[in-house]
Amino acid sequence: MEKPMATQRILDFLATRRPEGPCLVVDLDVVRENYVAFERALPDSKIFYAVKANPAPEILRLLTALGSSFDTASVTEIEMALDAGATPDRISFGNTIKKERDIARAYELGIRLYAVDCVEEVEKIARAAPGSRVFCRVLTDGAGAEWPLSRKFGCVPAMAVDVLRRAKALGLDPHGVSFHVGSQQTDLSAWDRALNDARTVFEALAEEGIVLKMVNMGGGFPTRYLRDVPQAQAYGQAIFSSLRKHFGNRIPETIIEPGRGMVGNAGVIKSEVVLISRKADSDDVRWVYLDIGKFGGLAETMDEAIRYPLVTPRDGDETAPCVLAGPTCDSADVLYEKTPYPLPVSLTIGDEVLIEGTGAYTTTYASVAFNGFEPLRSYVI
Ligand SMILES: *Cc1c(COP(=O)(O)O)cnc(C)c1O
Repeated sequence: MEKPMATQRILDFLATRRPEGPCLVVDLDVVRENYVAFERALPDSKIFYAVKANPAPEILRLLTALGSSFDTASVTEIEMALDAGATPDRISFGNTIKKERDIARAYELGIRLYAVDCVEEVEKIARAAPGSRVFCRVLTDGAGAEWPLSRKFGCVPAMAVDVLRRAKALGLDPHGVSFHVGSQQTDLSAWDRALNDARTVFEALAEEGIVLKMVNMGGGFPTRYLRDVPQAQAYGQAIFSSLRKHFGNRIPETIIEPGRGMVGNAGVIKSEVVLISRKADSDDVRWVYLDIGKFGGLAETMDEAIRYPLVTPRDGDETAPCVLAGPTCDSADVLYEKTPYPLPVSLTIGDEVLIEGTGAYTTTYASVAFNGFEPLRSYVI
């Protein structure tokens, strides 16, 4: 039997509080352990927590107290980080797609560090946030990631050179290069390819007298779902040796932006079996319907990308493959069907099911009252 990820604190909370309906419970002790593990793995990198993974105020306050900085994507996320006690110099506006009036608002709030991936965005920042630092995001192929980020963000390295040169010409401070190797990245060499690209941008601009200072190495650090993943320490070693390889003894300032890796394993969703049925008497595969699905916070089951560990009160009994689905009247609300999920044959309507590794990308993905189901409630303990 694998060690369950629900901590004793979470199990005790659920046993004593018995919250009604599906809910997420996050254990702050685990978030703290994750933060310390990142600090130890990459002691020379600054940590900018990706707020979108889970913006619960308790999490942001804890991370502020631990010394974290924050990667934000909107004015609201900036305000959340400020409310948690972070000063503006610890916040980056890391979305490459921003309205000019939101940039102006961020500038008013004191934010001086912005992501770009094209000349058009640089021009907005030059107008709305004059003199600020900008870093240019380069594309990565996302290979090896379970939740790749595609071509939506970033540009090719040759264009990043043009973008940062333009930033300089418009009076901005061309600060560095960023990338994101794709979320839930289990290939340790993904950072090496991206750091090689970053180095080419540094070199091309250095020839023109523009000296970049920073590499933002993004997120992508995984959470353990059903399969083991390398520990933070292994990522730290791989990344540090790539930095050495590409930058020699002139390693720039570095940033990491963990989201999933900071909070994913800190949360557990409690849900309940609403129905177990078959589509024909002769079917082997049962359909198991939970009281939470794609619209209640489990959006990352899209294309069955993220496969969460489930804990039932009948674990240890004989299992059989099940299709797992959510409770809404939308036919897309099926979690696992292409690859059915083995669940105990003895599982019964009304049983409680714990969905582990759900601290990241769940509450923020829950819809508001689709079919009358409440957004996912969360308790941070
Ligand atoms: C979402 C995001 C992250 C966090 O990614 P994880 O894979 O959850 O670690 C980091 N940086 C940026 C710019 C992001 O958009």
